[in-house]
Parts: sequence; structure tokens; C-alpha cells
Amino acid sequence: MVADAVVVGAGPNGLTAAVELARAGLSVQIYEAADTVGGGARTEELTLPGFRHDPCSAVHPFGIGSPAFQALPLARHGLEWLHPDVPMAHPFPDGTAAVLARSVGETAASLGPRDAGTYRRLLAPYIGHWESIAADFFRPQWSGVPRDPYRFARFGLTGTPPLSLLALRFHDPKARGMLAGLAGHAITRLSQPFTGAMAMMFALAGHERGWPVARGGSQAISDALAGYLTELGGVIRTGVTVRKLDELPPARAYVFDTSPTALARIAALGDAYRRYRYGPSVFKIDYALDGPVPWTAPEARRAGTVHVGPTYTEIGDALSRAVTGRPPHTPFLITAQPGVADPSRAPEGKHVFWAYGHVPNGWHGDATDAVERQIERFAPGFRDLVLARAVTGPAGLAARNANYVGGDIGCGAFSGFQTVLRPRLAAIPYATSRPGVFLCSSATPPGPGVHGMSGHNAARAVLRHLRRTARR
Ligand SMILES: Cc1cc2nc3c(=O)[nH]c(=O)nc-3n(C[C@H](O)[C@H](O)[C@H](O)COP(=O)(O)OP(=O)(O)OC[C@H]3O[C@@H](n4cnc5c(N)ncnc54)[C@H](O)[C@@H]3O)c2cc1C
Repeated sequence: MVADAVVVGAGPNGLTAAVELARAGLSVQIYEAADTVGGGARTEELTLPGFRHDPCSAVHPFGIGSPAFQALPLARHGLEWLHPDVPMAHPFPDGTAAVLARSVGETAASLGPRDAGTYRRLLAPYIGHWESIAADFFRPQWSGVPRDPYRFARFGLTGTPPLSLLALRFHDPKARGMLAGLAGHAITRLSQPFTGAMAMMFALAGHERGWPVARGGSQAISDALAGYLTELGGVIRTGVTVRKLDELPPARAYVFDTSPTALARIAALGDAYRRYRYGPSVFKIDYALDGPVPWTAPEARRAGTVHVGPTYTEIGDALSRAVTGRPPHTPFLITAQPGVADPSRAPEGKHVFWAYGHVPNGWHGDATDAVERQIERFAPGFRDLVLARAVTGPAGLAARNANYVGGDIGCGAFSGFQTVLRPRLAAIPYATSRPGVFLCSSATPPGPGVHGMSGHNAARAVLRHLRRTARR
């Protein structure tokens, strides 16, 4: 029997695409290489029994704010968002911290009197408008009319220039450091266009929706999507690495939650994505700790996410080293302490802790000491609490998930035209040169993150294609 759609890869985007297609009444099968679903949204006991680590994503500003997830009954399938007191803290060597709080006022106050007004004015036009901003930001930027053209244009004018220009509006090194940390999620140089928009989007998400974790771990997001898919009649097969299109059962459409280069190999698309570039990688450490991280700054002890790297210059240098292929020296760290909001992650009194710094694509070195020296600067005594650590560099990331080519967790560099034209210049970025074959991974708009929007947008392209072919 011919399936309506076969999806390859059960990451957040593959699962969301499958769910959207099944909701439209199609028969859907999904094939996943790993033994469990989830891709970059999974949870495992990586270190010691009872310590539940998120090897990839941990914090979900774009998950809770995703228009696709909001429309699905994921709570009924077990997904619960848990909010830390403070979404994000950015500590400094003097023991103080800037905070991204739920309230714009509290955040502005933490940046100091010279910059509080500038921060408020930067975010004010968008507060209360997350739904339209998210709808416009999470679709291919050049397709269709924005839902709120005025706000979207204004956001674009402010955010299209690089963070290096946006930061010039601020005087205090602490404010500039916090903005650089927010833009650092794009894993690119701070002089890249659109890094300003990244910083604003992360800040806005914090104020409008928070930066929550999922109760029990990020696996809960994937399990909720998989549970709903099964309820809709979808079939999930795990432990199957797809190498050739003709290994798959006959279907009216194929949707790939893979890298573009893997798709080109599997579906014999030739050199369709030969210009596609992969970006820097990360060096990730998951810790089992004997207690909470002893941050000097009290705000950091209450935050779900802590950015470690005090100044704009330090963060910019760390990112630049990774982009230009140089080993890390003083890495900028993105860290998460899910236990602040979700005590279920570790035995009583213990904690899991998640940290990564940026390294060149394919780098083979060991950054453990550099990462821990950096944490010790802001949390003296940290090393004494380490019960166990699971260390994963670029090769380990790529081995765990084929989408992380060379360890690039964004499945494509955030640079040049590729920043907005992913995976290549095309009217429908999800379609390929082969009719009925689609791409839905984070290599397509809107890009990385656990939000399912690439899967959602790709599913809509598939449905349009199937309606057209049915009419013919
Ligand atoms: C260390 C790390 C930290 C991160 N932190 C965050 C965070 O805190 N918040 C956030 O929002 N995002 C975070 N991300 C990014 C986020 O995880 C990804 O952007 C997101 O998972 C992308 O979803 P996806 O569905 O496109 O691909 P993936 O999640 O990568 O899923 C792709 C799936 O396809 C499968 N697959 C690939 N090729 C084949 C094949 N040939 N046959 C069968 N199956 C195949 C893979 O096994 C995988 O399960 C992080 C990622 C990493 C690695």
C-alpha cells in the first residue's frame, strides 16, 4: 500500500511535520536512525543513575513560544513547561549580574541607569505582540505578507544590522556583554548581519513567554509529539538509518529531517546543495553535581540559563576563534541548570548541569579544562562539586546525530546569504529539485532551535504539493 507521506528523522521538526500531515488526514510513517525519537530534544542518564541529562537542547524560549507547538495538544501528551525564577543571568567578575527577567523593567534596571531607558525603548514596540512577531519571524522571510507588517519592518530595521552596531547604543560594558551573550546563540561573529535580531528575539521571548525547561527533560517534548502522532494513526520506526530513497516504502511524498547534504546523497539530488556550508561546533559537558553551582552572583543561582563570559570583547573573541578555526582559549559558555525549575532531574540535593563553549567545526581537542576554568571564575569551588561528567566534542556530536555535520549543532552556518536563504535560494525552501521530496530540518527556515516550525512550514508545502498533484 502506498503511504501518503514518509518522514525520515524524528527530531522536533520531523515529528512536527509528521504530526501536521497526520492531522490533515494523511497516512504517515516516520523512520529514525536512533533507537529513540527526539533528535536534539532528548534526555538520558549520561553520567550516574538518577541524573537525567539533556545531551542537546535544554532550555526552550522558542519551544514555549512556537506557533506550531501552541496549536498542538502537547500538554495532554505529558509536556509541561517549568519556569525558573529568572530566565537568564549574565554574571560579572565583581559578583553582580545582569538578568533577563520576565519583566522588562527588572531587566533594564539590572543593566544600570545609563542603559535602562535604551533597553526599554528597544523592546517596548514589541511587548504584547509575541504572536505576530513569532508568526512573521518563524516563516521564510521573503514569502507572503507579514501578519503585522509595521512591527515586522520595524523589528527588521533594528535587528538586521549586526549586534556590533546595536551594542553601540549602550554605554555600560555590562549591558553590551549581556546583549553579546544573547546574540552568541547564533554561533557566529557579532559583526554578522541579523545578530542584532537574534539578541532581540531571545530577549523578547524571555519577556513574553519565558525560557522554560520541560518537566523531566527535553525528551518530554519529543515524547509528546510522538504520542500525539501515534494517536493520529502515524507509525514510528526507530533504529533505521535511511541511506537510499528506494529503501523506503512507496509514498506520495517524502520529508527529510536531515542535513541538506545527506538528503542530496539519499535522494540522488546531485550537487543541489554543494554551496551549503556548515558552521562551528561546540564542546559540550554534562555534569552530575553534589549540589547547586556556587555562583558568586545570587541572581545566577536562581536562573535556568547562565551566560558565562563577561564582556562583549571576550564573547566576540571566543566566537571569532571558533568561526576562524582556532582552538578555544577563554570560551564563552552557555550553561543551563534545569534543577532550578525541575527537581526531578537528579537525586535529592544533587543537580545536573549543562555547559558548552564554541570550537571549530571538526575540532579534535579537549576543552574540559578551559570550560571549567571559565566556570570557576564566576563560581569558585565548582570543580569540588563534580561527581561525574560526560564530555562530547564535535566528533561525538556528529556520531550521535548525522545532522550535526562536523559537530555543527545548527545544521548550517549562520553566515552570508545562508543566514536568511537556507538551504539555498528558492521560492519554496522546503521543496527540492525532485518532485515529492522535501526537506524539513533546521537547515530550512526559520533555522535551529526546538520549535518545530521548519517541520510545520514544510508540511504545509507538502500539503499544497499533494493537493496540486491530486487535481492533476
Ligand atoms: C548541545 C546542543 C544544545 C542545544 N541547545 C538548545 C537549546 O537549549 N534550545 C533549543 O531550542 N535548541 C537547542 N539546540 C538545537 C536543537 O536541538 C536543534 O536545533 C533541533 O533539535 C533541530 O531539530 P531537527 O528536527 O531539525 O533536527 P534534529 O533534532 O537534529 O533531529 C534529526 C533527526 O533525524 C535523524 N536522522 C538523521 N539522518 C537520518 C537518516 N539518514 N535516517 C534516519 N534518521 C536520520 C537523527 O538521528 C535525528 O534524530 C541544541 C543542540 C545541541 C546539539
